Amino acid sequence: MKINKLLIANRGEIAVRIIRAAQELGIRTVQVYSSADCDSLPVQLADESIEIGPPQAIKSYLNADSILAAAAKTGADAIHPGYGFLAENPDFADAVEAAGMIFVGPSGDTIRRMGDKASARETAKAAGVATVPGSAGSLDKPDEAVSLAEEIGFPLMIKASAGGGGRGIRIVSSIEEFVHQAPQASAEARSAFGDGGIYLEKVIEQARHIEVQILGDGKRAIHCFERECSLQRRRQKVWEEAPASTISQKTRDELCTAAVKLAVAVGYRGAGTVEFLYEIPTGKFYFIEMNTRIQVEHPVTEQITGIDLLREMILISAGKPLSLEQDDVVVRGHAIEVRLNAEDPANGFIPFPGTLGNITLPGGPGIRFDTMIYPGYCIPPFYDSLLGKLVIWDEDRTSAMRRLRRALDELTIEGVKTTAPLFRALCRNKDVQASAYDTRWLERWLSTNAASQIV
Ligand code: ADP
Ligand code: ADP
Ligand code: MG
Repeated sequence: MKINKLLIANRGEIAVRIIRAAQELGIRTVQVYSSADCDSLPVQLADESIEIGPPQAIKSYLNADSILAAAAKTGADAIHPGYGFLAENPDFADAVEAAGMIFVGPSGDTIRRMGDKASARETAKAAGVATVPGSAGSLDKPDEAVSLAEEIGFPLMIKASAGGGGRGIRIVSSIEEFVHQAPQASAEARSAFGDGGIYLEKVIEQARHIEVQILGDGKRAIHCFERECSLQRRRQKVWEEAPASTISQKTRDELCTAAVKLAVAVGYRGAGTVEFLYEIPTGKFYFIEMNTRIQVEHPVTEQITGIDLLREMILISAGKPLSLEQDDVVVRGHAIEVRLNAEDPANGFIPFPGTLGNITLPGGPGIRFDTMIYPGYCIPPFYDSLLGKLVIWDEDRTSAMRRLRRALDELTIEGVKTTAPLFRALCRNKDVQASAYDTRWLERWLSTNAASQIV
């Protein structure tokens, strides 16, 4: 199969990233857009563009019928879903294939099995990969799960099977809270994700988030090593690195082997990420979920391995066997990504849409900025607030931190508040410099006076 024309069913910086990969492969691109995005950079960069609906995502970027009609009209033969929106919707993947097109990602069946968080836990367990202690599969009758909750112990997490992006997770500390919150969690999941499935997990108190990048062609799978994403706010990553600087080579080998084992067990095709929690006091790691798509933080892996993950995923979807052997994947140096959001970090991170003035982007060796912004760009209020990702590479972590500081000092984005001041403050922090943090460190730090350094 050859892809001649790829439709990008997404927006923002990831749409730009996909267009770049496609153009380098000689593939024509079609950018879909909502009426709020008609002036966007991906629309300007793509060979063609087509409007798919009004600003509300449910009527545009989440509107499968409208996207499929746009693909038919423009003669696209493949669709790349990016992340978020329809990227982990198995029915959409099936519909794309039923319409005779290529879905750039795993099959609908694999997404059903691995994109659903409760079912992925079962698959991981069956493949011999340790999961966080918790319920087996989704809870059918949440109120009947009381004895199970007592067995797991408190605090525990109630998670939505279809949750993502840090949403759909609640922590409960007692049986009373559990009985009260479980039905609410299910109802909320149904309205937020269209699926009321929930499951339980023990809370791992002191953990680091470490995830493994996978590439598979349906027959073979390899890993591209790990990323460390413990600096989080509201369970969403804000700063990511590769490789993880605090684990031993033995732990790294075990994590990567477990991730490949899981990918092989499901005959994984495409790019995916297997996420783990690494328990600091015990050194044990547990599978938490798999993301069956490209992730926001994929560039740090690209910077340390030299592999173009978007190019690989497009080639695999076109039926090409994996071009890499495991031994071809070699790590060099260290990479850090910070997520620049249009939010005010000094004011509860409230979203800050608006029109951009002058922009100065940092440059020089080892610096990459994945973004859709340009001077005069108007950030619409309808979508997430990611403006771009500053990605730093250098020979080792200490040098990468120095380079990040320098890059952040060069960066100016006028017109809106951004999270850049947060990252400037974090670069100066001793714990961050020493990589001495867990997944809750950032929220603890933000609740202290130290956070007043964000200016
Ligand atoms: P990553 O796992 O790539 O680090 P995030 O968790 O930050 O990505 O999510 C990336 C984007 O996708 C965010 O805009 C997030 O809100 C969105 N997203 C991820 N999963 C879901 C989901 N299940 N439902 C809705 N939005 C999601
Ligand atoms: P999402 O689908 O939103 O990405 P995840 O299940 O991957 O949700 O969890 C997001 C983050 O929440 C993790 O990176 C971690 O910081 C925290 N978390 C998730 N599960 C647990 C757990 N069992 N114990 C402690 N923290 C957890
Ligand atoms: Mg996750």
